Amino acid sequence: MLYRLKTDFRLSIITLLGASAVLGITPFAFMRFLQGNVVAGIVDTAILLGITGTLAYAWITGDTRRSGLFLAIICCSGAVVVGAVVGEPGLFWLYPCLVTSFFLTGPKTAAFINVAAVVALMVHGVAFSSDLQMWSFAATAFVVSACAYVFAYRNDDQRRRLEHLATIDPLTGVKNRRSMDEELQLAVYSAERNRVPCGLALLDIDHFKRINDTYGHGVGDQVLSELVAMIEQNTRKTDQLFRYGGEEFVLLLPGVDDTGLRAVVHNLQQVLRKYMHCPGGPVTVSFGVASLQADDSVDSWLQRADAALYRAKETGRDKVVFSEPQDIRESVTGVA
Ligand code: GH3
Ligand code: MG
Ligand code: MG
Repeated sequence: MLYRLKTDFRLSIITLLGASAVLGITPFAFMRFLQGNVVAGIVDTAILLGITGTLAYAWITGDTRRSGLFLAIICCSGAVVVGAVVGEPGLFWLYPCLVTSFFLTGPKTAAFINVAAVVALMVHGVAFSSDLQMWSFAATAFVVSACAYVFAYRNDDQRRRLEHLATIDPLTGVKNRRSMDEELQLAVYSAERNRVPCGLALLDIDHFKRINDTYGHGVGDQVLSELVAMIEQNTRKTDQLFRYGGEEFVLLLPGVDDTGLRAVVHNLQQVLRKYMHCPGGPVTVSFGVASLQADDSVDSWLQRADAALYRAKETGRDKVVFSEPQDIRESVTGVA
């Protein structure tokens, strides 16, 4: 549970705001019933049920986009009904709702929900004791919404930048090892659940140190970027490439069975052999390939691919080596 709160920003916002709303509204719901204001009590209870239902939906389905939208609508429309039923004291509830809607859903949708809530209260009009009060309410609601928008926008922008910095390799633009761990775990879960095959190839540039030492790091960097571009051009959009470290990359191929995996990797090897060059001549790559097995964990899957890559290097480089289940059988293909 804590892991989900830590890793899913939207879910943590929905949980925090939903729980605060439940804590804040519950005493008022009791108070309204005790004071004999049954209608307001029922409205508060309906809002509480709506919020807890949405929280449960978010946790069960993981659909935080829809849950955030539901929560923003429930809170704002609830505040409007409370304002209409309770009158002036009920108006104050709309302010926190106007602020939070920008954290729960996209800026345009939140602005629309906020405008609709304020206009609904103004058209109904009963909550206000004078025109001056009504227009003051509209103006302050606008200022609160505008400030919340700016704050939420900046917050979102910075969060996205941080996420990008933490997950993307700056040189090649592909995902780094940190995001690879998460994606491989997801791939293992998904393959198990949906009973679909999944392939993985570990790629390592041959004698890359020599390229650096002879032509400089700039040329080495260029080779890394070219390799990434070529792999991306020759794989599907659903395949994912990660920089595993230095000049090693991991290619994840979901939904690809053993035969397909062999075809894709051999094709990739041919393309790289043909087009990868540095000033000194062709640049070659060694491959360690492993299909996901029923009893594989991420670690065992990677280890099998790594063992296959090791054999590719040991047996002369510029090769594709496949790991078989439990690494019993292995096939060396390709010519050095
Ligand atoms: P092998 O064929 O056995 O894989 O030999 P290799 O020379 O490719 O492997 P080795 O591990 O000895 O060298 C990898 C080199 O990659 C060493 C390191 O300086 C270089 N390297 C790691 N990251 C980068 C990078 O971002 N840019 C550049 N230019 N070089 C890098
Ligand atoms: Mg290497
Ligand atoms: Mg290496």
